[in-house]
Amino acid sequence: MNFNTLGLSEPILKAIAKQGYDAPSPIQEKAVPAVLQGQDLMAAAQTGTGKTAAFTLPMLEILAQGQRAKSNQVRALVLTPTRELAAQVQASVALYGEFLQLRSAVVFGGVKINPQMMKLRGGVDILVATPGRLLDLYQQNALHFKQLELLVLDEADRMLDMGFIHDIRKILNLLPAKRQNLLFSATFSNEIRTLAKGMVKNPVEISVTPPNSTVKSVEQWLVPVDKSKKSALLTHLIKENNWSQVLVFSRTKHGANRLCRHLEGHRLKAAAIHGNKSQAARTKALADFKHNKIQILVATDIAARGLDIDQLPHVVNFDLPNVPEDYVHRIGRTGRAGATGEAISLVSADEFKQLAAIERLIQQLITRQYEDDFIPVHELPESKLDKRPIKPKRPKKQKAGHRDGQRSGENAQGHKPSRQKPRSQRGGNAGDRTPARKRQGQKQRTKQARPR
Ligand code: AMP
Repeated sequence: MNFNTLGLSEPILKAIAKQGYDAPSPIQEKAVPAVLQGQDLMAAAQTGTGKTAAFTLPMLEILAQGQRAKSNQVRALVLTPTRELAAQVQASVALYGEFLQLRSAVVFGGVKINPQMMKLRGGVDILVATPGRLLDLYQQNALHFKQLELLVLDEADRMLDMGFIHDIRKILNLLPAKRQNLLFSATFSNEIRTLAKGMVKNPVEISVTPPNSTVKSVEQWLVPVDKSKKSALLTHLIKENNWSQVLVFSRTKHGANRLCRHLEGHRLKAAAIHGNKSQAARTKALADFKHNKIQILVATDIAARGLDIDQLPHVVNFDLPNVPEDYVHRIGRTGRAGATGEAISLVSADEFKQLAAIERLIQQLITRQYEDDFIPVHELPESKLDKRPIKPKRPKKQKAGHRDGQRSGENAQGHKPSRQKPRSQRGGNAGDRTPARKRQGQKQRTKQARPR
């Protein structure tokens, strides 16, 4: 199939050709004609599948036909969970809409509101926004939705994880009832389906990746290591293997900063990207990473969400996420577009519970590989695959805190940090230093066999 058969007009086809895309990706093939027919959509697709173009292309086509936006009006609204994703979606809108006369804008929290209000004054055809800032702008009378034709909810699962459900419901109430709705989510939990019920009407359902499955072209392995040795191990792995571009995930902002300092102390160029960093610092770190000015980008899950970095060769989980689905999102950053990538997790004994939850979610045991100088004192217990089905998650409780793209002073629902068990109940067999691969039945890889 090629793009000419999807029903898109010349200016859009010209912009696509300029990007050098040969053929639509599977999600684009299915979504574009359905959206052009005016249907609502529910699509299960992760970053890297071409989902942004899947909604942007038909959205531009539809908007190119109608009346332009009047002052302070918006014709299409794209909601995203993070600032980075909002900026990237806006960049795609500008790219694919280069040969059209449509106006677009992006608004998110963490930067001054006044310039955003000025931009909206003349009206915009497409507005990409994070939910909190959008509501702020609405309350300040900078926005009206009378002309709204189309709503896109991007990465809906992450919006819920980040506690935006109330904001989203508020926004839905402000929009005209007659509109087209497109909902994109990496996974479709019961919670998302409940949200969808009140939002989309008779949607076309598309799924391009089975929910919660990991990307096939990603080689996953883990190194059991004591917590205190993780920074040294990471430095060793990067230097020994000459990894040139590494995205490292840290569970906490402080952990990310600490790790950055350690890496820099060992003459490795690194930068951290997380919610406490200014927007300017985050944008600079990402640009430096993309242009190979820094070798290592250390990110928290929320900040990393939606980062568009193609074909990243190495993703490292410096610590395992508390929410197993985040593991799938994290490793989705590598091995894109047919290129293989490696996802390496540094796992200490106290993270066994998280490891077991991840292995249960992805329904596979992650290959273990011991590094000679880093054999842990606190041994990581042997994994056994839990094949029981996973129950749908309950909605999370309110928790104070400020999240990306959210208004200051407002409560957010966030990840509930898992409580560590008392030391006596934790996994691991201190004192037994025999590497698990010698005793475990599961497949183990030798150092020589590691893919480069
Ligand atoms: P997304 O899933 O929207 O994050 O897109 C991932 C990457 O795929 C982006 O860098 C796009 O530029 C690229 N892309 C989108 N559609 C196509 C296509 N049809 N052919 C090749 N690359 C594409």
